[in-house]
Amino acid sequence: MEQHQTRMKVDTTGFAGGVKRDELVPSRYVVRIGEIDVMVISDGVLEPPAESMATNADPVIRTAWLDERFLAHDVFDWALNAVVVRSGSQTILVDSGIGGEVPDFRRAGQLGHRLAAAGIDLGSVTDVVLTHMHFDHVGGLLVDGVKEKLRPDLRIHVSAAEAKFWEAPDFSRTGMPPVLVETARSASRRFLDEYRSQLRTFEKEQDVAPGVVVARTGGHTPGHSVVRIASGGNRLVFGGDAIFPVSFDHPEWHNGFEHDPEEATRVRMKLMRELAETGAWLVSTHMPFPSVGRVAVDGDLFRWVPVWWDY
Ligand SMILES: [Zn+2]
Repeated sequence: MEQHQTRMKVDTTGFAGGVKRDELVPSRYVVRIGEIDVMVISDGVLEPPAESMATNADPVIRTAWLDERFLAHDVFDWALNAVVVRSGSQTILVDSGIGGEVPDFRRAGQLGHRLAAAGIDLGSVTDVVLTHMHFDHVGGLLVDGVKEKLRPDLRIHVSAAEAKFWEAPDFSRTGMPPVLVETARSASRRFLDEYRSQLRTFEKEQDVAPGVVVARTGGHTPGHSVVRIASGGNRLVFGGDAIFPVSFDHPEWHNGFEHDPEEATRVRMKLMRELAETGAWLVSTHMPFPSVGRVAVDGDLFRWVPVWWDY
């Protein structure tokens, strides 16, 4: 298949750091929200089983959805994005990509060298916000040598419910491949071991910087949170794993990585309606790069309206 030929050409060396030359496509995109800069940085692309994108769907309908978009039936190209927010004197990294947690996902784990290429030194990061503690969101902090480059007074904002959940995580309602369940257990355990003293936990929401608030939604994981950014009358929401590429056509489709799929669906619908109403920008972890767009609604149907690139 043509898609696989394209994959073969991608240079996948050096995920952990160093400046990589000759990238074929841009990996960062900046939106300005009033006085706040929001830079989306691609960590690459994950390759989970396509059925994990819609575990409760009729396989015939799921396959038709994939066919209509010229997508493969076996593996889903799932974008992975992180965000750097600059507000006032603070530099905030929202999520950290997958690092080296899943060596089989050879196209992801690129955040380190892409941050460097964007001129962002890890030592300049004052705050990290975690939407949740899945391995594709904390893995970048577990890469060898990263912790040493971070400031000793770094604040890591994560909901109290999320930190608690990963002390004894429940996967009974997920549809994740078993190997990734083990990856999730291991990554969250090592993350808590390494960074526990730097956590700044919150119950409902927490101010991170002027115009930057992290707010718990639950659903995907019990402590899943979104980041709300507002300045100068403009708004942007980093939605983490509340909204996926399939969610606009099928918000009711359960994602295999959701720990409470019904609640995740409620969270997703509520957030999409809110975004359609306010016209706020959405950036989502797993929407295709640059993952900046708006949500339109017509009755129960949602539509993703991507940003028109501003060069
Ligand atoms: Zn994720």
